[in-house]
Amino acid sequence: MMTFKLQKRVLSLGLAVIVGLSGCSGASASGSSVANKDKPLVWFNRQPSDSNTGELNKDAVNFNKDTYYVGYDMYQGADLQGQMVEDYVASHGASLDRNGDGTIGYILAIGDAGHNISNARTRGTRKALGTAVDENGDIDPSPAEQNLDGSSTVVKDGTVTLDGRDYTVRELASREMKTKDGATWDADAARNAINEWSSSFGDQIDIIVSNNDGMGMAMFDTWAHANKVPVFGYDANGDCVAATKDGFCGSISQHADVQAYLTLRVLRNCLDGVDVNTGIGVADDAGNVLSPDDFYYKEDERAFYALNVAVTADNYQNFLDPRATYAPISNQLDEKTHPKKKVFLNIYNKDDDFLSQTYQPLLQQYSYLLNLDVTFVGGNGHDESSITGSFNPGQYDAYAINMIKTDNAGEYMDILSR
Ligand code: BGC
Repeated sequence: MMTFKLQKRVLSLGLAVIVGLSGCSGASASGSSVANKDKPLVWFNRQPSDSNTGELNKDAVNFNKDTYYVGYDMYQGADLQGQMVEDYVASHGASLDRNGDGTIGYILAIGDAGHNISNARTRGTRKALGTAVDENGDIDPSPAEQNLDGSSTVVKDGTVTLDGRDYTVRELASREMKTKDGATWDADAARNAINEWSSSFGDQIDIIVSNNDGMGMAMFDTWAHANKVPVFGYDANGDCVAATKDGFCGSISQHADVQAYLTLRVLRNCLDGVDVNTGIGVADDAGNVLSPDDFYYKEDERAFYALNVAVTADNYQNFLDPRATYAPISNQLDEKTHPKKKVFLNIYNKDDDFLSQTYQPLLQQYSYLLNLDVTFVGGNGHDESSITGSFNPGQYDAYAINMIKTDNAGEYMDILSR
């Protein structure tokens, strides 16, 4: 039997509301006397952390008193994704075993083995499917590469009973989907992988799980759709949600609308010199406010975490427009009391499906609603200097940074401290 325990710990955190958040300083305009090192700074999407251990870089999130991280709850989301796959297996019975070999074989597309959220998703899938192996007290998230005979040391075989018969559950293959240059979460690498794997053991592949939709969609289009193999992704990108009617089986919304808002809203509040919770946990003068079902704040990590929602055939119609702003936080601020400010914001890889398809369009809309003049810079996904080379902090009032490598926060802090 597969086992799955809902992480009550994480869900209960979702109920925590911001209490006693300190006011932001009101650091102000470009050309003013505020030093770059004292201007508001938000790290988003890629949390400053050790790419080997996942440990949070506390110096980076405490860079100055107006520094925060905005992301989503990776553990709750990973559990939801695992649960979604597990539910699918349980409700599809013996017909899942396409070639009748007694093994439910799945493949896993890994985004970035040095990114804590990618590892969380890998762990969530392995935990739900009973294929997890312990490594120093946590689930090993390493890519298994090819594991047709079940001999891998980073995953083990699970079992599931379907229609009264026991089946083996096996991670047939998993790989970090990287370009030659080292750019991660790469859809073309996933396309190449499914071409390679399907031509050598396609009849054994019963399920595809991907750490994100970009890679999942590449596998769906290239092979899975035509072969009616279920694909599970993450992000609820518009193309995947739309493809649910054609058999893309499920995704997870990480509430990009809430995250894009928070990314800019936190900067806005710091620039206005008001409590950082304004328009977030407490309604602002335009009526914008979020609920504890949407996000929570974790003081010791200086982090705002959006909460995730599973998107399946049952509810996908509600998610067809992932670039739409979220109604409770869609009210325009008055420019007289919230004057235009200049923000530098970068996207770590201009080709990243989620960030370019979903997150950036949302940021653009919120920049208008919040009266922020945002300069967008797109990196190449593998070389931090593709961003730092265009980073002239003196021209801006505030910064939103999406690092290429989660270890590299220091490079930005150095530039801001010069
Ligand atoms: C998304 C991925 C994306 C990554 C980039 C994640 O939150 O799910 O699709 O590639 O962020 O950092």
